Amino acid sequence: MSTIAERQMQFLFALRTKGVTDARVLTAMEKTDRARFVKGHFSARSYEDMPLPIACGQTISQPSVVGLMTQALNVQPRNKVLEVGTGSGYQAAILSHLARRVYTVDRHKTLMNNARLIFQALDITNLMAFTADGSFGLPDQAPFDRILVTAAAEDPPGPLLAQLKVGGIMVLPVGQSNSVQTLIRVNRTETGFEYEELRAVRFVPLLEGLGKD
Ligand code: SAH
Repeated sequence: MSTIAERQMQFLFALRTKGVTDARVLTAMEKTDRARFVKGHFSARSYEDMPLPIACGQTISQPSVVGLMTQALNVQPRNKVLEVGTGSGYQAAILSHLARRVYTVDRHKTLMNNARLIFQALDITNLMAFTADGSFGLPDQAPFDRILVTAAAEDPPGPLLAQLKVGGIMVLPVGQSNSVQTLIRVNRTETGFEYEELRAVRFVPLLEGLGKD
């Protein structure tokens, strides 16, 4: 049985080994205890680099993938960030340490209620969480400097592209829901959008409308 400090060291070491090297991202992940976001008997596996089940048939992503996506997003301290797919709230909590303000959206009320309780317990005050279909973004809060989507769509949703500032970055998995998807980074320039393929990933699908629970 290893101590909490040892587990934390191993966790950070595993992230570095997988290519998460940005010091600000590593610090934000060090501050965010993944065990808080995983319930029941799976919490013992919180520090392993694997996705784990959460409520509503969804998953908390693999820590190295969370790290690589956060790193690709290149969040700056003054940024306003939108995350689509709150899930457990883990990724949103990490973003809250890097950005000025974070908005996060999930289509499941149950997940949202669980995540909100954790955000309150952790005293995270620069984060606003909404139950909504995030493929439409958050028109009232737009535009955003950064957008992170943590569920896979076949293509980048039009409303999200429209809500990205010029000079802004969006990171999202695209592709068929039942196969391997591609993580892409979209840069919005003065003249349009630039697309860059980052790596193969596997995410749950971005679904339409609200979940029934
Ligand atoms: N970022 C999460 C993991 C996301 S799992 C974490 O850190 O734990 C993907 C999430 O996307 C699921 O919770 C699912 O309910 C949500 N989702 C899927 N389609 C959505 C949509 N259209 N709008 C908002 N959330 C959606």
